[in-house]
Amino acid sequence: MHAIISLVIFPMKINKRISKLLKQECGQCSSCCRDIQVDITDRDLKRLVMLTGISADKLVRLYGHNKDDNDVEGDWINLSYGKRAIVLNKKRNGDCIFLGSNNGCIAYKARPMTCRIFPICVVYDEDHDIVNLEKSEVITDKTITCKCSPGTGQTYNNFMSTAKKARVEHAAFIKKIDRWNARNNKGNKNDFLQFLGFKILPDCIQK
Ligand code: SF4
Ligand code: SF4
Repeated sequence: MHAIISLVIFPMKINKRISKLLKQECGQCSSCCRDIQVDITDRDLKRLVMLTGISADKLVRLYGHNKDDNDVEGDWINLSYGKRAIVLNKKRNGDCIFLGSNNGCIAYKARPMTCRIFPICVVYDEDHDIVNLEKSEVITDKTITCKCSPGTGQTYNNFMSTAKKARVEHAAFIKKIDRWNARNNKGNKNDFLQFLGFKILPDCIQK
């Protein structure tokens, strides 16, 4: 019964390549926590605010749209000063704000879905069904060197359950961005966070 349900929800076929991908074990090198932007949704942000007690505006930053990003659809937030994408904040040295001194994640329990899935990239079809798993592009294009190595990894069902949840949350977030972008009054970063339901303290610097 359970297997049949899984098959309906997850139509992707498992092959040797995918099994091998899921068996990769993290080498704890922390490259992915230092050298890449971590996409974040409002649900990720809500979990991080609840875990850390830090206000949402301190946990995220927005980066600008450039001409190379014209093919990206859906994730751009229209603000009064241009298009922005929302990512997890970084320290001054470029590390993720949650990267601890021992290369561990100090917000592990509430880490964003992007971190939970990495270093795998989930491929969807037009119906939002998961159709393939691949190694993340930032590894194949050598933006970072990942020290994952063959091990026991994770089960297919566990991974797919996370991937499915990530997909649902991301799709819901895109709908919210679409609603925001349809408004006449664009506003700034904190206006957008308030639109998402986060409380912003009045003395917060807005950028
Ligand atoms: S939230 Fe944690 S796992 Fe994700 S990039 Fe930051 S330190 Fe790494
Ligand atoms: S880059 Fe790869 S090996 Fe290094 S911490 Fe990230 S997932 Fe683990």
